[in-house]
Amino acid sequence: MSDLSHAGIGMTSQRTRERLIARLIEAGITHPEVLRVMRELPRHLFVDEALASRAYEDSPLPIGLGQTISQPYIVARMTQTLLAHGPCDTVLEVGTGSGFQTAVLAALVRRVYTVERIASLQELAQHRLRLLKVRNVRFRYGDGFQGWSDYAPYDGILVTAAPRGVPRALAEQLAPTGCLVLPMGEADRQVLMRVTREADGFDQQVLEPVSFVPLLGGVA
Ligand code: SAM
Repeated sequence: MSDLSHAGIGMTSQRTRERLIARLIEAGITHPEVLRVMRELPRHLFVDEALASRAYEDSPLPIGLGQTISQPYIVARMTQTLLAHGPCDTVLEVGTGSGFQTAVLAALVRRVYTVERIASLQELAQHRLRLLKVRNVRFRYGDGFQGWSDYAPYDGILVTAAPRGVPRALAEQLAPTGCLVLPMGEADRQVLMRVTREADGFDQQVLEPVSFVPLLGGVA
């Protein structure tokens, strides 16, 4: 991890990390394991060095190529929603981005499969997780609209960019009683949704308004 450490943020990051956790609790994050992982994971290693001092603010930050590392509250909220649904052994993540959400999931479930359409982001995320010795993640460069059928079905699917509707392939790759958490809608009126697979179809629940980059088709 040493070559990923950014100088000068040691003590500040400890204080600001605790402030961030307090803010997450205030905002309704109650899952003890999610809070533990959010407290322990070094988010400053998932952003450019120039932004490291802002890594423990509760806000999204740019990661290049028009993409962002998601707001900590949203990462915690989506993870908590997925875990609250029931036992979660395998998770498919669509939109690896910086790899931060991937690392959070990897600390909480047995295996994570993650798909990213921008090769350079995928490579950097893979590099970060290797340095952090995270070994239960498989990476794929590809179009997440198609999911990753080789390892389906998944207990959980988490999408970190917004499609206009629920992608059919993702719904189909959910295990019976599985849970899909995703943002959905046009840029200025997106909502976070939970889609669960039931014996007789799918149940959809709107959770709260959100703002995500769009889920784009094809690879970059
Ligand atoms: N959780 C990530 C993080 O915290 O860094 C969020 C990354 S960003 C909000 C969304 C990511 O989804 C971007 O890296 C973008 O390239 C990716 N993306 C968009 N459409 C995609 C698609 N069809 N397949 C795979 N990844 C996609």
